[in-house]
Amino acid sequence: MPKITPKTTPIYQTSVFTFEDLNDLELYFEQPGQQYMYTRYGNPNSDELAEEVNKLEGGAGAVVTSSGMSAILTAVLTYCQSGDHVLCAEEIYGGSAALLSQELTRMGIEVTYVPSDELYTLGNHVRDNTKLLLAETMSNPLLQVLDLQRLAAETKRAGIKLVIDNTFASPVVTKPLALGADMVIHSVTKYLSGHSDVTAGVVVAGTTETSDRSKQIMRVYGLNLSPFESWLAARGLKTLKLRMRQHCNNALAIAGFLEQHPKVSQVWYPGLEQHPQHQVAKEQGNGMFGGMLSFRLKDDEPETVNAFMQALQHIPFAPSLAGVSTSVSHPLRTSHRSLSPEQQQKLGITLGVIRLSVGIEEMEELLADLGQALDKV
Ligand code: PLP
Repeated sequence: MPKITPKTTPIYQTSVFTFEDLNDLELYFEQPGQQYMYTRYGNPNSDELAEEVNKLEGGAGAVVTSSGMSAILTAVLTYCQSGDHVLCAEEIYGGSAALLSQELTRMGIEVTYVPSDELYTLGNHVRDNTKLLLAETMSNPLLQVLDLQRLAAETKRAGIKLVIDNTFASPVVTKPLALGADMVIHSVTKYLSGHSDVTAGVVVAGTTETSDRSKQIMRVYGLNLSPFESWLAARGLKTLKLRMRQHCNNALAIAGFLEQHPKVSQVWYPGLEQHPQHQVAKEQGNGMFGGMLSFRLKDDEPETVNAFMQALQHIPFAPSLAGVSTSVSHPLRTSHRSLSPEQQQKLGITLGVIRLSVGIEEMEELLADLGQALDKV
Protein backbone atom coordinates (compact mmCIF):
# COMPACT_ATOMS: atom_id res chain seq x y z
CA MET A 1 0.00 0.00 0.00
CA PRO A 2 1.46 3.46 -0.88
CA LYS A 3 2.02 6.02 1.89
CA ILE A 4 -1.22 7.97 2.27
CA THR A 5 -1.08 11.50 3.72
CA PRO A 6 -4.35 13.31 3.03
CA LYS A 7 -4.36 17.11 3.24
CA THR A 8 -7.73 17.10 4.96
CA THR A 9 -9.00 14.88 7.75
CA PRO A 10 -10.67 11.75 6.36
CA ILE A 11 -14.15 10.82 7.56
CA TYR A 12 -13.85 8.17 10.27
CA GLN A 13 -17.22 6.66 9.45
CA THR A 14 -17.03 3.92 12.03
CA SER A 15 -19.00 3.25 15.18
CA VAL A 16 -16.11 1.46 16.91
CA PHE A 17 -12.31 1.20 16.87
CA THR A 18 -10.27 -1.97 17.22
CA PHE A 19 -7.60 -2.99 19.74
CA GLU A 20 -4.60 -5.29 19.31
CA ASP A 21 -5.11 -7.10 22.61
CA LEU A 22 -5.92 -6.51 26.28
CA ASN A 23 -2.72 -4.51 26.80
CA ASP A 24 -3.73 -2.16 24.01
CA LEU A 25 -7.16 -1.78 25.62
CA GLU A 26 -5.57 -0.93 28.98
CA LEU A 27 -3.57 1.85 27.29
CA TYR A 28 -6.88 3.42 26.21
CA PHE A 29 -7.95 3.71 29.84
CA GLU A 30 -4.53 4.63 31.24
CA GLN A 31 -3.69 7.33 28.69
CA PRO A 32 -6.91 9.18 27.86
CA GLY A 33 -6.91 11.06 24.57
CA GLN A 34 -4.34 8.77 22.89
CA GLN A 35 -6.77 6.35 21.23
CA TYR A 36 -10.42 6.00 20.30
CA MET A 37 -12.74 3.21 21.39
CA TYR A 38 -16.36 3.86 20.49
CA THR A 39 -17.72 6.76 18.42
CA ARG A 40 -20.33 7.78 20.99
CA TYR A 41 -17.47 8.37 23.46
CA GLY A 42 -15.30 10.17 20.94
CA ASN A 43 -14.36 10.25 17.24
CA PRO A 44 -11.56 12.10 15.40
CA ASN A 45 -14.07 14.10 13.33
CA SER A 46 -16.17 15.30 16.27
CA ASP A 47 -13.01 16.04 18.27
CA GLU A 48 -11.57 18.08 15.42
CA LEU A 49 -14.75 20.15 15.20
CA ALA A 50 -14.88 20.63 18.98
CA GLU A 51 -11.22 21.71 19.12
CA GLU A 52 -11.64 24.24 16.31
CA VAL A 53 -14.70 25.84 17.91
CA ASN A 54 -12.96 25.78 21.29
CA LYS A 55 -10.05 27.75 19.79
CA LEU A 56 -12.38 30.29 18.18
CA GLU A 57 -14.32 30.82 21.43
CA GLY A 58 -11.18 30.80 23.62
CA GLY A 59 -12.53 27.97 25.79
CA ALA A 60 -10.91 25.42 28.09
CA GLY A 61 -12.65 22.53 26.32
CA ALA A 62 -15.60 21.82 24.05
CA VAL A 63 -17.89 18.98 23.10
CA VAL A 64 -20.03 18.73 19.98
CA THR A 65 -23.57 17.41 20.11
CA SER A 66 -26.30 16.19 17.78
CA SER A 67 -28.09 19.59 17.63
CA GLY A 68 -28.24 23.02 19.19
CA MET A 69 -31.06 21.72 21.38
CA SER A 70 -28.92 18.92 22.77
CA ALA A 71 -26.16 21.49 23.39
CA ILE A 72 -28.60 23.53 25.52
CA LEU A 73 -29.70 20.35 27.32
CA THR A 74 -26.05 19.44 27.97
CA ALA A 75 -25.33 22.93 29.30
CA VAL A 76 -28.26 22.87 31.73
CA LEU A 77 -27.51 19.33 32.92
CA THR A 78 -23.85 20.24 33.44
CA TYR A 79 -24.84 22.67 36.18
CA CYS A 80 -28.28 21.48 37.36
CA GLN A 81 -30.08 18.55 38.87
CA SER A 82 -33.60 17.94 40.10
CA GLY A 83 -34.57 20.57 42.67
CA ASP A 84 -32.53 23.33 41.04
CA HIS A 85 -33.79 26.53 39.47
CA VAL A 86 -32.63 28.30 36.30
CA LEU A 87 -33.14 31.81 35.03
CA CYS A 88 -33.73 32.42 31.35
CA ALA A 89 -33.84 35.69 29.43
CA GLU A 90 -37.41 36.30 28.31
CA GLU A 91 -36.30 37.07 24.74
CA ILE A 92 -34.98 33.66 23.72
CA TYR A 93 -35.32 31.10 20.94
CA GLY A 94 -38.72 29.38 21.30
CA GLY A 95 -37.15 25.90 21.36
CA SER A 96 -34.99 26.84 24.35
CA ALA A 97 -38.10 28.04 26.18
CA ALA A 98 -39.96 24.82 25.26
CA LEU A 99 -37.09 22.67 26.56
CA LEU A 100 -37.05 24.52 29.87
CA SER A 101 -40.80 25.02 30.41
CA GLN A 102 -42.22 21.84 28.95
CA GLU A 103 -39.53 19.21 29.55
CA LEU A 104 -36.98 20.11 32.22
CA THR A 105 -39.70 21.26 34.62
CA ARG A 106 -41.06 17.68 34.47
CA MET A 107 -37.67 16.55 35.76
CA GLY A 108 -37.75 18.94 38.69
CA ILE A 109 -35.73 21.84 37.24
CA GLU A 110 -37.70 25.05 37.69
CA VAL A 111 -37.45 28.05 35.38
CA THR A 112 -38.11 31.76 35.73
CA TYR A 113 -38.09 34.07 32.71
CA VAL A 114 -36.40 37.38 33.34
CA PRO A 115 -37.69 40.43 31.43
CA SER A 116 -35.00 42.26 29.45
CA ASP A 117 -35.03 45.34 31.68
CA GLU A 118 -34.32 43.21 34.79
CA LEU A 119 -31.40 41.17 33.43
CA TYR A 120 -28.74 43.38 35.01
CA THR A 121 -30.42 43.39 38.42
CA LEU A 122 -31.24 39.75 39.09
CA GLY A 123 -31.75 40.14 42.85
CA ASN A 124 -35.51 39.49 42.91
CA HIS A 125 -35.24 36.39 40.77
CA VAL A 126 -32.32 34.57 42.38
CA ARG A 127 -33.10 31.86 44.93
CA ASP A 128 -30.85 29.61 47.04
CA ASN A 129 -31.22 26.85 44.43
CA THR A 130 -30.67 29.05 41.34
CA LYS A 131 -27.77 27.70 39.31
CA LEU A 132 -27.56 29.64 36.07
CA LEU A 133 -28.84 32.27 33.68
CA LEU A 134 -29.36 31.30 30.02
CA ALA A 135 -29.35 34.18 27.53
CA GLU A 136 -28.45 34.95 23.91
CA THR A 137 -25.75 37.39 22.77
CA MET A 138 -28.23 38.62 20.17
CA SER A 139 -31.78 37.54 20.74
CA ASN A 140 -33.93 35.64 18.31
CA PRO A 141 -35.80 37.21 16.49
CA LEU A 142 -35.66 40.87 17.57
CA LEU A 143 -31.89 41.24 17.88
CA GLN A 144 -31.70 42.61 21.38
CA VAL A 145 -27.98 42.74 22.21
CA LEU A 146 -26.90 41.96 25.75
CA ASP A 147 -23.98 43.69 27.43
CA LEU A 148 -22.17 40.48 28.33
CA GLN A 149 -19.58 42.07 30.59
CA ARG A 150 -22.30 43.72 32.66
CA LEU A 151 -24.35 40.54 32.69
CA ALA A 152 -21.35 38.45 33.80
CA ALA A 153 -20.66 40.90 36.65
CA GLU A 154 -24.28 40.48 37.77
CA THR A 155 -24.32 36.66 37.58
CA LYS A 156 -21.02 36.52 39.50
CA ARG A 157 -22.46 38.82 42.16
CA ALA A 158 -25.55 36.55 42.35
CA GLY A 159 -23.33 33.43 42.60
CA ILE A 160 -24.76 31.76 39.49
CA LYS A 161 -23.30 30.67 36.14
CA LEU A 162 -23.78 32.55 32.90
CA VAL A 163 -24.56 30.34 29.87
CA ILE A 164 -24.60 32.22 26.57
CA ASP A 165 -26.18 31.03 23.35
CA ASN A 166 -23.85 32.68 20.83
CA THR A 167 -25.57 31.26 17.72
CA PHE A 168 -26.66 34.59 16.21
CA ALA A 169 -23.38 36.41 16.77
CA SER A 170 -20.81 33.66 16.13
CA PRO A 171 -17.35 33.92 17.74
CA VAL A 172 -16.23 36.17 14.87
CA VAL A 173 -18.56 38.87 16.16
CA THR A 174 -18.48 38.19 19.92
CA LYS A 175 -16.53 35.90 22.26
CA PRO A 176 -18.65 35.60 25.42
CA LEU A 177 -16.06 33.69 27.51
CA ALA A 178 -13.60 36.59 27.22
CA LEU A 179 -16.35 38.89 28.51
CA GLY A 180 -16.99 36.77 31.60
CA ALA A 181 -19.48 34.04 30.57
CA ASP A 182 -18.94 30.58 32.07
CA MET A 183 -20.19 28.57 29.12
CA VAL A 184 -21.06 29.16 25.47
CA ILE A 185 -23.36 27.07 23.34
CA HIS A 186 -24.13 27.16 19.63
CA SER A 187 -26.54 25.70 17.21
CA VAL A 188 -23.71 24.65 14.84
CA THR A 189 -26.53 24.15 12.34
CA LYS A 190 -26.26 27.93 11.77
CA TYR A 191 -23.17 30.08 11.10
CA LEU A 192 -20.51 27.66 12.32
CA SER A 193 -21.31 25.08 9.64
CA GLY A 194 -22.93 27.72 7.45
CA HIS A 195 -24.30 25.80 4.46
CA SER A 196 -27.75 24.66 5.66
CA ASP A 197 -26.75 21.00 5.36
CA VAL A 198 -25.89 20.03 8.95
CA THR A 199 -27.77 19.79 12.25
CA ALA A 200 -25.30 20.05 15.14
CA GLY A 201 -24.47 21.77 18.42
CA VAL A 202 -21.47 22.60 20.58
CA VAL A 203 -20.86 23.37 24.23
CA VAL A 204 -17.70 25.35 25.07
CA ALA A 205 -16.71 25.60 28.72
CA GLY A 206 -14.53 28.12 30.51
CA THR A 207 -12.87 25.48 32.73
CA THR A 208 -11.61 21.95 32.01
CA GLU A 209 -13.60 20.61 34.95
CA THR A 210 -16.87 21.89 33.47
CA SER A 211 -15.90 20.71 30.02
CA ASP A 212 -15.21 17.19 31.36
CA ARG A 213 -18.65 17.14 32.96
CA SER A 214 -20.29 18.26 29.68
CA LYS A 215 -18.44 15.52 27.80
CA GLN A 216 -19.67 12.95 30.30
CA ILE A 217 -23.27 14.13 29.82
CA MET A 218 -22.93 13.96 26.04
CA ARG A 219 -21.62 10.37 26.25
CA VAL A 220 -24.07 9.04 28.83
CA TYR A 221 -27.19 10.63 27.32
CA GLY A 222 -26.00 9.68 23.82
CA LEU A 223 -26.09 13.23 22.46
CA ASN A 224 -23.09 12.72 20.15
CA LEU A 225 -22.72 14.07 16.63
CA SER A 226 -22.07 11.65 13.76
CA PRO A 227 -18.63 11.56 12.06
CA PHE A 228 -20.02 12.72 8.72
CA GLU A 229 -21.92 15.71 10.16
CA SER A 230 -18.82 16.60 12.23
CA TRP A 231 -16.71 16.51 9.08
CA LEU A 232 -19.18 18.67 7.12
CA ALA A 233 -19.38 21.20 9.95
CA ALA A 234 -15.58 21.29 10.33
CA ARG A 235 -15.31 21.97 6.62
CA GLY A 236 -17.83 24.81 6.83
CA LEU A 237 -16.05 26.27 9.84
CA LYS A 238 -12.90 26.87 7.78
CA THR A 239 -14.60 29.76 5.96
CA LEU A 240 -16.46 31.20 8.96
CA LYS A 241 -14.44 34.42 9.18
CA LEU A 242 -14.76 35.16 5.47
CA ARG A 243 -18.46 34.37 5.45
CA MET A 244 -19.20 36.47 8.53
CA ARG A 245 -17.58 39.54 6.98
CA GLN A 246 -19.86 39.28 3.95
CA HIS A 247 -22.97 38.41 6.02
CA CYS A 248 -22.36 41.51 8.15
CA ASN A 249 -21.67 43.89 5.25
CA ASN A 250 -24.74 42.74 3.36
CA ALA A 251 -26.98 42.91 6.44
CA LEU A 252 -25.92 46.46 7.25
CA ALA A 253 -26.73 47.62 3.72
CA ILE A 254 -30.10 45.83 3.69
CA ALA A 255 -31.06 47.18 7.11
CA GLY A 256 -30.41 50.71 5.84
CA PHE A 257 -32.48 50.04 2.72
CA LEU A 258 -35.44 48.57 4.63
CA GLU A 259 -35.38 51.33 7.20
CA GLN A 260 -36.03 53.91 4.44
CA HIS A 261 -38.67 51.81 2.71
CA PRO A 262 -42.29 53.09 2.88
CA LYS A 263 -43.73 49.55 3.13
CA VAL A 264 -41.67 48.78 6.25
CA SER A 265 -42.67 50.14 9.67
CA GLN A 266 -39.76 48.91 11.82
CA VAL A 267 -36.32 47.34 11.41
CA TRP A 268 -34.39 45.54 14.13
CA TYR A 269 -30.66 45.47 13.37
CA PRO A 270 -27.93 46.30 15.91
CA GLY A 271 -25.85 48.01 13.22
CA LEU A 272 -28.43 50.81 12.87
CA GLU A 273 -27.55 53.83 15.00
CA GLN A 274 -31.03 54.09 16.48
CA HIS A 275 -30.96 50.45 17.68
CA PRO A 276 -31.21 50.69 21.49
CA GLN A 277 -28.03 48.65 22.05
CA HIS A 278 -26.08 49.96 19.05
CA GLN A 279 -23.14 51.20 21.15
CA VAL A 280 -22.79 47.95 23.14
CA ALA A 281 -23.09 45.93 19.94
CA LYS A 282 -20.39 48.04 18.31
CA GLU A 283 -17.94 47.58 21.18
CA GLN A 284 -18.71 43.92 21.78
CA GLY A 285 -18.66 43.02 18.09
CA ASN A 286 -15.61 45.07 17.05
CA GLY A 287 -17.76 46.96 14.57
CA MET A 288 -19.53 43.85 13.21
CA PHE A 289 -23.25 43.41 13.82
CA GLY A 290 -24.08 39.98 12.43
CA GLY A 291 -26.11 38.77 9.47
CA MET A 292 -29.56 38.57 11.07
CA LEU A 293 -32.22 41.25 11.03
CA SER A 294 -35.97 41.46 11.44
CA PHE A 295 -38.47 43.93 10.09
CA ARG A 296 -42.19 44.59 10.32
CA LEU A 297 -44.28 45.18 7.24
CA LYS A 298 -46.36 48.32 7.57
CA ASP A 299 -49.43 46.28 6.75
CA ASP A 300 -49.24 43.80 9.66
CA GLU A 301 -51.49 41.18 8.00
CA PRO A 302 -50.97 37.52 6.94
CA GLU A 303 -52.08 38.25 3.34
CA THR A 304 -49.36 40.90 3.00
CA VAL A 305 -46.75 38.53 4.43
CA ASN A 306 -47.83 35.85 1.95
CA ALA A 307 -47.80 38.29 -0.96
CA PHE A 308 -44.27 39.41 0.01
CA MET A 309 -42.98 35.84 0.33
CA GLN A 310 -44.55 34.82 -2.98
CA ALA A 311 -43.09 37.86 -4.74
CA LEU A 312 -39.51 37.09 -3.66
CA GLN A 313 -37.76 35.45 -6.59
CA HIS A 314 -34.43 34.35 -5.12
CA ILE A 315 -35.03 34.39 -1.37
CA PRO A 316 -36.95 31.35 -0.08
CA PHE A 317 -39.07 31.13 3.05
CA ALA A 318 -37.08 28.64 5.13
CA PRO A 319 -37.53 28.42 8.88
CA SER A 320 -33.84 28.35 9.73
CA LEU A 321 -30.97 30.79 9.38
CA ALA A 322 -27.31 31.56 8.84
CA GLY A 323 -26.71 29.71 5.59
CA VAL A 324 -24.65 31.16 2.73
CA SER A 325 -27.83 31.93 0.80
CA THR A 326 -30.39 34.43 2.08
CA SER A 327 -33.74 33.26 3.44
CA VAL A 328 -36.73 34.73 5.23
CA SER A 329 -38.62 33.28 8.15
CA HIS A 330 -41.73 34.10 10.11
CA PRO A 331 -41.04 33.98 13.87
CA LEU A 332 -44.69 34.03 14.96
CA ARG A 333 -45.54 30.92 12.94
CA THR A 334 -42.20 29.07 13.29
CA SER A 335 -39.48 29.63 15.94
CA HIS A 336 -41.79 31.37 18.43
CA ARG A 337 -44.95 29.41 17.72
CA SER A 338 -44.87 27.64 21.10
CA LEU A 339 -45.11 30.92 23.07
CA SER A 340 -48.51 31.99 24.38
CA PRO A 341 -50.28 34.82 22.46
CA GLU A 342 -49.63 37.09 25.47
CA GLN A 343 -45.88 36.33 25.39
CA GLN A 344 -45.76 36.87 21.63
CA GLN A 345 -47.57 40.18 22.00
CA LYS A 346 -45.36 41.28 24.88
CA LEU A 347 -42.19 40.57 22.91
CA GLY A 348 -43.56 42.43 19.87
CA ILE A 349 -43.58 39.36 17.62
CA THR A 350 -46.62 40.17 15.49
CA LEU A 351 -47.91 38.79 12.19
CA GLY A 352 -46.04 41.28 10.05
CA VAL A 353 -42.61 40.54 11.58
CA ILE A 354 -40.28 38.89 9.08
CA ARG A 355 -36.84 37.62 10.00
CA LEU A 356 -34.19 37.90 7.33
CA SER A 357 -31.11 35.72 7.38
CA VAL A 358 -28.79 37.64 5.10
CA GLY A 359 -26.51 35.46 3.03
CA ILE A 360 -23.24 36.11 1.24
CA GLU A 361 -24.61 36.77 -2.27
CA GLU A 362 -23.85 40.01 -4.11
CA MET A 363 -25.55 42.77 -2.15
CA GLU A 364 -27.11 44.38 -5.26
CA GLU A 365 -28.93 41.13 -6.11
CA LEU A 366 -30.44 40.95 -2.64
CA LEU A 367 -31.51 44.60 -2.62
CA ALA A 368 -33.13 44.14 -6.04
CA ASP A 369 -35.12 41.08 -4.97
CA LEU A 370 -36.31 42.63 -1.71
CA GLY A 371 -37.15 45.89 -3.47
CA GLN A 372 -39.27 44.33 -6.20
CA ALA A 373 -41.12 42.12 -3.67
CA LEU A 374 -41.91 45.09 -1.42
CA ASP A 375 -43.21 46.99 -4.45
CA LYS A 376 -45.78 44.21 -4.94
CA VAL A 377 -47.33 44.31 -1.46
N1 PLP B 1 -30.36 28.49 19.65
C1 PLP B 1 -30.80 29.37 18.73
C2 PLP B 1 -30.54 30.83 18.94
C3 PLP B 1 -31.51 28.91 17.61
O1 PLP B 1 -31.94 29.80 16.71
C4 PLP B 1 -31.74 27.53 17.47
C5 PLP B 1 -32.50 27.01 16.30
O2 PLP B 1 -32.99 27.73 15.49
C6 PLP B 1 -31.27 26.65 18.44
C7 PLP B 1 -30.57 27.17 19.53
C8 PLP B 1 -31.51 25.16 18.33
O3 PLP B 1 -30.61 24.62 17.41
P1 PLP B 1 -30.89 23.29 16.55
O4 PLP B 1 -32.02 23.56 15.64
O5 PLP B 1 -29.57 23.06 15.87
O6 PLP B 1 -31.21 22.19 17.53
